Amino acid sequence: MTENNKDLRQLYIDGQLEEYERVEYENTLSAHQRKEVDAERNFDVLIVKSIESKQEKCPDKLWDDIKSKLEDKSDTSTSVKIIPVYRRPLAYAACAVILFVGIFALIVPKSTVAEQVEIQVDFPKDTTVFAEQAVIKGNQQDIQKTLNEEGFVIDISDIQECNENHGHFVQIIGFNSVEIEGVKHPCAHLYFTCCGQPVSTYIVDKSKKSQEYKFSSSLPQIKRTDKTISNYRIVTFSPHHVETVSGLFCPVESEK
Ligand SMILES: [Zn+2]
Repeated sequence: MTENNKDLRQLYIDGQLEEYERVEYENTLSAHQRKEVDAERNFDVLIVKSIESKQEKCPDKLWDDIKSKLEDKSDTSTSVKIIPVYRRPLAYAACAVILFVGIFALIVPKSTVAEQVEIQVDFPKDTTVFAEQAVIKGNQQDIQKTLNEEGFVIDISDIQECNENHGHFVQIIGFNSVEIEGVKHPCAHLYFTCCGQPVSTYIVDKSKKSQEYKFSSSLPQIKRTDKTISNYRIVTFSPHHVETVSGLFCPVESEK
């Protein structure tokens, strides 16, 4: 099909041909081609009618803006420079969709959408390397003090007693504040070992509702517990065993 024929075909479908041009064009078509073109023309008319019966009114200014932009773009082409009248409802419908999406974005309050924070949990093969990642190192008392100073009102119960109850050997190593791209999060990372294997516990302050933490690990055999104690979400990971460490955390007794 030549460019000229394509233009004629579109003008014919759009109802933009003069009467004599229309007859002339129809004469160039075989019966089959005529059927095809008419089917396309009827389809357009039906769609437009259906949209016209449902669409909202598009503000005049918005319509004028769109129209002038479309006219600018079509300056270089030889095809129709103005959108055929009965195609306007299609553009109106597009306007309605754009307006709807715009308004929706404005009315959804941003504060109710918590920021998703992804934390990747990994364990180096060498437990010494894991232990070195803790910025603040110390015994149970030191770590308990740091935890409280950092605003986490939660207790770590007697580790020795816990070991006896569970038949595991847990040691506390250290503490880190979770920082992502230089921003300190309301999330503490505690480092432990259980029977010499690394264990990580993340304590998330749930009263800071602006963030939602998603923990994931690339290690396929990782064990995990996720529980809530008062206002804190406590997530423990280990390739070895998590229950003993997870069981250490308890609410602060008011008279202590
Ligand atoms: Zn163990």
